[in-house]
Amino acid sequence: MSIAGDTVTASPTDLLTAVQGALDAHDPDVLVCSTSEIIPTLHEMATDAGVDDFSLSRWPDVDYQQLASRSTYSSYGRVGHSPARYNVPGRAIIDESNTFFYAETNLDGVLDLVSRSKKPVQELAWASIGNVLTAIQICEAHDRGVLVPWNSWRHEFFKPMGTLHDADRGGFIFAPEVGLHENVHELDFSSLYPNIICTRNVSPDVIRCDCHSDRDDVPGLGYSICDDRGYLVDVLQPIIDARDEIKAAIRREEERDDPDEDRLAELEGRSGALKWILVACFGYQGFSNAKFGRIECHEAINAYAREILLTAKQQLEAGGWRVVHGIVDSIWVTSDPDVDDENREDLETLATAITEEVEIRLEHEGHYDWVAFVPQRESDAGALTKFFGKVAGDDGFKIRGIEARQRSTPPLIKDVQRDCLDRLDATRSPDAVLDCLQNAIKRLHAGTVPVEQLVKRNRVSKPLEGYTQNTQNVAALKRAREQDLAVHPGQDIEYVVVDDEKNSRERVALAHEEIESYDASYYETQLVRAIESVLAPLGWDRREIRRELAETQIPKLTAFANATRS
Ligand SMILES: [Zn+2]
Repeated sequence: MSIAGDTVTASPTDLLTAVQGALDAHDPDVLVCSTSEIIPTLHEMATDAGVDDFSLSRWPDVDYQQLASRSTYSSYGRVGHSPARYNVPGRAIIDESNTFFYAETNLDGVLDLVSRSKKPVQELAWASIGNVLTAIQICEAHDRGVLVPWNSWRHEFFKPMGTLHDADRGGFIFAPEVGLHENVHELDFSSLYPNIICTRNVSPDVIRCDCHSDRDDVPGLGYSICDDRGYLVDVLQPIIDARDEIKAAIRREEERDDPDEDRLAELEGRSGALKWILVACFGYQGFSNAKFGRIECHEAINAYAREILLTAKQQLEAGGWRVVHGIVDSIWVTSDPDVDDENREDLETLATAITEEVEIRLEHEGHYDWVAFVPQRESDAGALTKFFGKVAGDDGFKIRGIEARQRSTPPLIKDVQRDCLDRLDATRSPDAVLDCLQNAIKRLHAGTVPVEQLVKRNRVSKPLEGYTQNTQNVAALKRAREQDLAVHPGQDIEYVVVDDEKNSRERVALAHEEIESYDASYYETQLVRAIESVLAPLGWDRREIRRELAETQIPKLTAFANATRS
């Protein structure tokens, strides 16, 4: 057990003494626990060990209270698991297994939002983004003397950012040009959606107003927007301004000779917390059951975003740049080969001009030696979300959507995919990448890959009985049950594939088991798929990869045989 940063291994009585000692020494207002189950567990230990005066609480007669039981919920087809919640009188609990904002930011991020939402620390720690945004809006409504509808919307229905962008992508993208592009720049609009709301006055209380119904202010939609300032602007503008100030403070601190790391962490936490609220405010408008949402606002924001991206594209093209991809708030460009360098306008200058025209800051986000956009499987069209690129002047890659970024991918596959990216970067040669793949496959079949490298981590979406097909997850859950291990929906299960042909629980072994063998051909297939992602931008698919592997293998074996004979 770890207490205030020190690891303690001791008998129950000594553990309790150590916890009580740390509490007395620090007298904390906030208790951060890896899981709040530790609260009842410690008190049970105290009862069992006969330690009478143990208490986490600041109240003399109440040790702790249970606020809610463990539960499972479903949100946008994803099952979540929410642990039981506990209250310790006089202190705020942050349960690291059940917190969005503390996990995404830090205590400073949580406290910043506490001040804006007026929610208690403990509630803020387990609240969803939508829930906090609603609380901030209620504060604004209260300041304006406006009544708020009583019936709340269910915060579980709030879409996480990834889903949100996927669902709302449709309207305003320039599909990526599949392939590997050399020397690419990425330009991003700063907080595009919140800034559209504020600069265009998009707010439920002023859109399609009666007093200006003859106007069509929103491009392509014919909606009017009133001259009065909408309340959503009053909600978001202070948050945008605060985040801009915090980001400026971060830049100033970083430029100092001896930056204060504690202060940087505080600022980063606050900036991150505000970013989540700003990201959320757009998706929130799409929900008819949201307290403050209105679908027309959602449509209007989309319409303005499309107009802004088109304006940017035209200006960049006129300046001698070619747009290879545009999505949501980012535009990717390379130099237009048909334009001479002396006729090409500087990107910073263009970005400044676009910023002035659309009234939202366009920033130079990144420079890449090359970027590859991955086609969708079984199609030549570029996947909207899959790409990788080599950051200019840095060893790093920016990777989105391919196996190396997916949480379930075994370490071996991630490592080999990254090695292949290094090879591709160094050589631009598919053969070099295939050599790397060939080596990994050899190691797999030789049985020299450590099993820890092969562990898959999958989220369990329902109880065992709820599955109708014999998946690997089902096999893993059966093994877990056999060993009396409880795995709840929403939790992860970790296993190694032992024989993927089997339907029984022999198909996998759980990560903690003694594992003697693995299914090399299953992992080989996974490796080939991962390398297909790397080579697909160059026009390769897995059939060609297989063919090439088979061809290169035979001559090498023959060469080996000849060498030993002579
Ligand atoms: Zn009006």
